[in-house]
Amino acid sequence: MQQPELDRFEAPDVSELTPPTRTLMGPGPSDVHPRVLRAMSTPLVGHLDPSFVEIMDETQELLRYTFQTDNQWTIPVSGTGSASMEAAIGNLVEPDDTMLVPTNGYFGGRMAEMARRAGGNVVEVDAPWGEPLDPVDVEAAFDEHQPDVFGFVHAETSTGVRQPDVPELTSIAHDHDAYVIADCVTSLGGVSLKVDEWDVDVAYSGPQKCLSCPPGASPLTLNDRAMDKVLSREEPSRSWYLDLSLLEGYWGEERAYHHTAPITNVYALREALRLVAEEGIESRWQRHRDTAGALKAGVEAMGLEMNADDEFWLPSLNAVRVPEGVDDGAVIADLLEQYDLEIVSGLGDLEGEIFRIGCMGHSARPENVSLLVSALGQTLA
Ligand code: PLP
Repeated sequence: MQQPELDRFEAPDVSELTPPTRTLMGPGPSDVHPRVLRAMSTPLVGHLDPSFVEIMDETQELLRYTFQTDNQWTIPVSGTGSASMEAAIGNLVEPDDTMLVPTNGYFGGRMAEMARRAGGNVVEVDAPWGEPLDPVDVEAAFDEHQPDVFGFVHAETSTGVRQPDVPELTSIAHDHDAYVIADCVTSLGGVSLKVDEWDVDVAYSGPQKCLSCPPGASPLTLNDRAMDKVLSREEPSRSWYLDLSLLEGYWGEERAYHHTAPITNVYALREALRLVAEEGIESRWQRHRDTAGALKAGVEAMGLEMNADDEFWLPSLNAVRVPEGVDDGAVIADLLEQYDLEIVSGLGDLEGEIFRIGCMGHSARPENVSLLVSALGQTLA
């Protein structure tokens, strides 16, 4: 016989939240600074409260510093890094536009998918997983396809490769009247990035990597040239939520309701960015190089091999090759179980071939590196 309705919905008996205390050395999220966690427990105000409007202004100012840009259009997008990514691609790529994307990592594939959904045509510039794009190939792809938009990944989280030659890439694109979108999810606040000096039109990021902030409000910056294209679109962007011409109402002069911003995440981002400003952006980049350099030296001294050449090494994400005959999954599980230490395995083409070891933001500390090197050494012994 059928149960009466009420019995089917008995209140679940769930205990109080007690997450384990992990050391986060994977590809993100990274360890959150205690000051950021404290900022998240401060009282909520309304998303249009005058005090919050001031917090919005300060967050934008801090974001400009961190991106090294004067772009007026610099905002946190509500959502994870994929939201700022989709805001960039979905607004800049108009139906029948052509977007050139890289094939040298997982996130170029996501760019392609988003461009297609925006109604664009996708063309590719190839490089193997584990190598950066070669400007010669980018130039050839421009000559062949004449794309309207060019996307590249500054810090490829799936391969541990840093894209060098960014000014060269942007100048090729601009010589062909195209717009440049840079994925800076794993570089912002950890790896040298100069949006204005390098002439990048649009850059997006996430807060949970080198900014050491929980996911939820994701940095995006566009220069006037890119914003002019967005504001003169013939057809509105296919996403209402991420339509920058509408978001302008909230983050621009007007401060009018568009959606209820994730207030606590904006508090967190503001505090994380305040930490960047206090440390100084150049010193922060240097700290990442030094700390990750010690990590790299430690794993290499163990006889392990990095996946990327030294020339393209990405301090925030160290891709270490899994030694012959080692079960990567077992090592990762052991580190979590024995040491409360998170690292992760490879993605896509590099699945089972690399360990991905992050060294980002508040996780980029000597004590974390010592733990990682000694725990990994013990586990592999
Ligand atoms: N782009 C890159 C390079 C990333 O590493 C990530 C996430 O790891 C994303 C985009 C997407 O960000 P999210 O997972 O926060 O949506």
